[in-house]
Amino acid sequence: MPHVSRMEHSRWLNRLSRHSSPGRVVNVCFLVVLLFSTLLTWREVVVLQEAYISSQRNTLENVAHELNNQLQISIDRLLFYRNGMQAALTTPLAFEVLHNAGEEFERKRTQHRWSIMLDNRRTLPVNGVSDEFVDETTSLSRDNPLLRNELTATLEVGYLLRLSTTLKRATQQMLYVSRAGFFISNTPVANSNDIVEQYYALVTSPWFAMQSQKQNPGRGVSWLSWMVDSPQGLARRVAVTLPVDYQHYWYGVLAIEFSLAQMKQLLATATEGEKEGEYRLYDNRMNLIATSLAPGMEPSSLSEKEKAQLAQAFEHDTRGGERLETRYINWEKIRNYDGVLLRIHPLDEGIRGDFGSISIALGLLWALFTSMLILSWVVIRRMVRNMSTLQESLQWQAWHDGLTRLYNRTTLFDLASKAARECEHDGKPLAVIQLDLDFFKSINDRFGHQAGDRVLSHVSGMISAQIRESDIAGRVGGEEFCIVLPGMTKAAACERAEQLRSRINNREILIGKSETLRISASLGVSSSEEKGLYQFEHLQSIADNRLYMAKQNGRNQVCCQDDESQCCTPSRQPSGPPAEV
Ligand code: GH3
Ligand code: MG
Ligand code: MG
Repeated sequence: MPHVSRMEHSRWLNRLSRHSSPGRVVNVCFLVVLLFSTLLTWREVVVLQEAYISSQRNTLENVAHELNNQLQISIDRLLFYRNGMQAALTTPLAFEVLHNAGEEFERKRTQHRWSIMLDNRRTLPVNGVSDEFVDETTSLSRDNPLLRNELTATLEVGYLLRLSTTLKRATQQMLYVSRAGFFISNTPVANSNDIVEQYYALVTSPWFAMQSQKQNPGRGVSWLSWMVDSPQGLARRVAVTLPVDYQHYWYGVLAIEFSLAQMKQLLATATEGEKEGEYRLYDNRMNLIATSLAPGMEPSSLSEKEKAQLAQAFEHDTRGGERLETRYINWEKIRNYDGVLLRIHPLDEGIRGDFGSISIALGLLWALFTSMLILSWVVIRRMVRNMSTLQESLQWQAWHDGLTRLYNRTTLFDLASKAARECEHDGKPLAVIQLDLDFFKSINDRFGHQAGDRVLSHVSGMISAQIRESDIAGRVGGEEFCIVLPGMTKAAACERAEQLRSRINNREILIGKSETLRISASLGVSSSEEKGLYQFEHLQSIADNRLYMAKQNGRNQVCCQDDESQCCTPSRQPSGPPAEV
C-alpha cells in the first residue's frame, strides 16, 4: 500500500505543521533573540550604573577623607590647648611675671572691664569683667578652687594662640572663654570699651552653654553652626568647641570659630582637582555651610521634601546615594564634623561623562540591533507565509483534479481504502457508486472539447452538492467518477445514486451563448453488505461491472445488482446521444 503510507505520512506532517507552524516557530525564535538581547543590554546597563555609582562614591570618599584631615587639624589644636591648660592648672609656671599677673588680677577684678597683658609681642591679652558681672550671671562663677592658676594657664594658652596666629592658614578665631569672667582671643578686641559686650556675647553664644556638664556629659569636641547678627547683616558661623575641666570642675570653653568663607576655603582645599559635580557641606540640621561652586554661582536649593528624604537616609547609614529627580546625590557623614558632605551630580552632566556616553552607545546599539531584528523578522515572516501558501497550493494540486476540483484517482483510492478499514473496524456498511457519462465523446465531437470540460465541471459540481461531508468523491477516469459512502446502506446508496442520475439527467447545461444541453449518466452501485467484504478495489470493481451492465442495458440508469434485468430507472429517458434542448 504505497499510496496509503505516503498519504499517512503527509497527513502526519500536515498535523505537525499545523501545531508548530513555521510562522509560529519564527515568531518564537525572534522573540527569544529579542528577549535575550534586551536582557543582555539591561544587564550591561545595570553593571555600568553600579560602576558609575561606585566611582561616584570613591570620589566622594576621597574628598570626605581630605576634609576630615583638614578639620582634624582644628580638633587637634583644641585638644592641644586643653592639655596645655590642664597641665598649667596642675603645675603653674613659677615665673615672676605670672605671679605679678595674678597680683594684677586681684587689683583689677572689681573693675567694670579690665585687661592683663604680659608681653604684647609674645602673648595675647586676657580681657575680663567685674566680680559683680560674674555674680549676676548664673552660669558664671569666680569661686573656682584654682582661679589664679586658671588665669596664668590662660596667659600660657595666649602664648600658644599667638604662635598659632603666625601660622599661614590659621585665620580662624581661636579663643578660651572662662566661666570666671575673662577670655582670651587671637582676634584683638578693637575697642577696650567692647570687652564687657564681647564677653557677654561669648558666654551667651549657643556653643558656650552647650559645654556645660549637663549638656555635654561626654566632655568631647562639639560642632555647632548658628546665625549671628553682625553689622554686615545676618550671617552663619561655625564653631568647634571643647570644654576645659579639671578635677571635675568646669573652667571654661576653648573654641575655634569659622566664618562660612573659611569653611568654603576648607572645602575648596579638599575638593582640589575635582572637576565633576558640586560638593556641599551641610550641618546636622541640613543648613548649608559650604559649597564647592565658584563664588557668585548660586547653588540650586534642595526642596523641603528632598531634604526630608535625605535626612531620613542619614539616620540609618553613614554614607549612601539617592536619586532626586534630575540629580544623583552621594553623601557621606564627616567623622570630624557634625554634618554631612554631599556630592550633587546632575544627570545631564552624568550623560556627558564617560559612563553616560557608554550607556548612550549601548542604547543605540540595542536600538540598531532591535530594528535590524524586526526588519529581518518581517522579511522572514513574509517568506515563510509565501512558502506556506505555495506548499498548500502544491498539496491541493497533488490531491485534486484541477478541472473538476474533486479528488484525483490516487487520492480517492487512498482515502477510500482508509474509510473502508474504518468502516470494517466500526462494523458499519460501506457503499461505492461508480458513474460514467453517457455518450460523452459525442459532446466533445459536436460541441468541442471546451464544452466537454464545462460539462465535466458541472457534473462534478452536482456530485459535490449531492454528497455528505463524510463521503469521498473523485474523478477516476476521463468522464468517470467514483463516490464512496462510508456508513451508508446499499439501499440508501441506490436511492442516492438514482437521485444523482435524475439530477444529471434533468439539468440543462449551458455550453454556448444560448446553447444548453441535456446529458445522462449510467451508475453502478456496490456495497460491503453484500458479501461482507470491505476491500475498496473489490467493491469498486463490482460497482464498475454494474455500471457496464447499466450501459449495456441502455444507459441513463442505475444498476445495483449483478442481474441486468434488475437495473432500473423508473422514469428513464430512452438512451441515445445527448441532445440539444
Ligand atoms: P459511453 O456512453 O459508452 O460511455 O460513451 P462515451 O462516449 O461516453 O465513452 P468513450 O469512452 O467512448 O469516450 C470518452 C470520451 O471522453 C473520450 C474522450 O475524448 C473524452 N474525454 C476524456 N477526458 C476528457 C476531458 O478531460 N475533457 C474532455 N472534454 N473530454 C474528455
Ligand atoms: Mg462514457
Ligand atoms: Mg468512460
